[in-house]
Amino acid sequence: MSSAPVRNDSPNPNVDVDAVVIGAGFAGLYAVHKLREMGLNCRGFEAGSGVGGTWYWNRYPGAGSDSESWVYSYTFSEELEQEWTWSSRFPPQPEILSYLEHVADRFDLKSAFTFNTRVTGARYDEASNRWEVEAANGEKVTATYLVTCVGCLSAAAVPDIAGRDDFAGPWYHTGEWPHDGVDFSGKRVGIIGTGSSGIQAIPVIARQAGHLTVFQRTPNFSVPARNRKLSAAEVAELKKNIKDIREFCRWSTIGQPYDFNGQNALDLAPAELRKRLDEMWEKGGFEWMFGGFVDMLYDQRANDIAADYVREKIRETVKDPAVAEKLIPKDYPIASKRLPLDSGYFETFNRDNVSLVDLRETPIERIVAAGVKTSEKVHELDVLVFATGFDALTGPLIRTGIRGRGGCKLEEKWAEGPRTYLGVASEGFPNMFMVTGPGSPSVLGNMPTSIEQHVDWICECIAHLREQGAARIEPQPEAEAEWNDHVQELANETLFPQANSWYLGANIPGKPRVFLPYIGGFGTYRKLCNEVAEKGYEGFVIS
Ligand code: NAP
Repeated sequence: MSSAPVRNDSPNPNVDVDAVVIGAGFAGLYAVHKLREMGLNCRGFEAGSGVGGTWYWNRYPGAGSDSESWVYSYTFSEELEQEWTWSSRFPPQPEILSYLEHVADRFDLKSAFTFNTRVTGARYDEASNRWEVEAANGEKVTATYLVTCVGCLSAAAVPDIAGRDDFAGPWYHTGEWPHDGVDFSGKRVGIIGTGSSGIQAIPVIARQAGHLTVFQRTPNFSVPARNRKLSAAEVAELKKNIKDIREFCRWSTIGQPYDFNGQNALDLAPAELRKRLDEMWEKGGFEWMFGGFVDMLYDQRANDIAADYVREKIRETVKDPAVAEKLIPKDYPIASKRLPLDSGYFETFNRDNVSLVDLRETPIERIVAAGVKTSEKVHELDVLVFATGFDALTGPLIRTGIRGRGGCKLEEKWAEGPRTYLGVASEGFPNMFMVTGPGSPSVLGNMPTSIEQHVDWICECIAHLREQGAARIEPQPEAEAEWNDHVQELANETLFPQANSWYLGANIPGKPRVFLPYIGGFGTYRKLCNEVAEKGYEGFVIS
């Protein structure tokens, strides 16, 4: 615990605090835990009625993590790590939510939060050097530090399709799913969207619905998850080795317990390459792409090998060749959109109660009371599901109503794309720290690994400020500009910008086309952040 020259001397410690933390997901819970450990007085606000963030909101059928359970969790407490046992390789949403509930109770974190309360505005007051935070319940709180833990994929995007409100039945967005579930039994269900959420939900909904119509605009590549229950022996082995596994994750490219193998696909003889791809395919999970050949993300010829492999698998799996062709992506590199993992997605299209509507052939004209009207016909539906994604990374921050020095709105500063230093801070917004903000690896890695690194770094920075008796920190404009250029340059070296993905904001009409996450690798990023801190927070102005 550091001595605290910049401390909260307010007579009302509930209203004038050291730090306001926005959000009670993986990031917000850990931020509160860590800040409290340092002796800071924290107030947290959470829009949901409970903890969990992503896992509170995304309760759609089939929702679950695509990261292996034993690394999709916190590392800050060895006891916690040893006492919690995951049921399966990829944990389902209810289990992750139980885990976060457990963490919140075990470390008494709920007491810091006001639930059911969205932050509606946060304004930096230069005279007092404090953040003034306003919540939907009318509360006003001031804080020295503003720590945003609002999630990267938390602002649900429901497309503005003509007639949306004319639909006679209920409709749902996967990212705002009703807590008591939805009974699809015997119903004619339509789902729009075939991203990771749609690909997880479609097989499960198909098993329950009377009929499921999948409205697909862009076909997606997908790799089998091969989820499975963990045996007691496997759990024991994992727990025994967990320290080493976690240390590997901390320095790996995507924060996972595997990494690129240092080989290029193009350097291998075709038979050897095929053998390796087959072995990895049988193993399942992201490792197939991100534990293999790095040139697949940089070189179109190598990427074509991976893409053709998956295309072949789709053709083998889907019995109707015409349906298979519609499901096969042909116009962007594999993995340049976030690669989904699936449990029987392509197989689902062999079911009698599932039909595929290719919106490129027959676009949606409007939604009508009876269902979805495409250029071909009205597809009659009882229930409609939007698996249409999120206003990623910038959306959750902008909707928080953040204003920096001189009243500058975050959305004004970011009108042409987010401008951050290390994805953690933005010039003109002193003492504001973003956990996994745009310009950090965030969504390109295992989120808890990213989150712990960010929170630890932020807390060390705050401890440094307090030790120095410093009141304020913000990035230097030049350091920020250089970082933003670096983030774009790195992305442009890869095949990622070739797809219209949410990584580039391409899914939100009018959003600037800027690559949002840092793609230089999680381990490299960690090293850079450490160096910045070791050099006395190089690139920041501390005053
Ligand atoms: P997404 O990847 O953005 O996919 C949205 C889908 O909706 C796309 O197929 C998109 O088509 C379609 N769409 C959007 N607007 C449309 C419109 N007006 N008409 C027709 N189709 C439309 O969203 P997501 O599936 O929710 O996934 C977002 C991210 O969340 C993932 O990439 C992943 O990072 C995360 N996630 C993770 C997990 C996990 O870890 N297991 C699960 C779910 C989500 P186009 O491609 O043509 O735009």
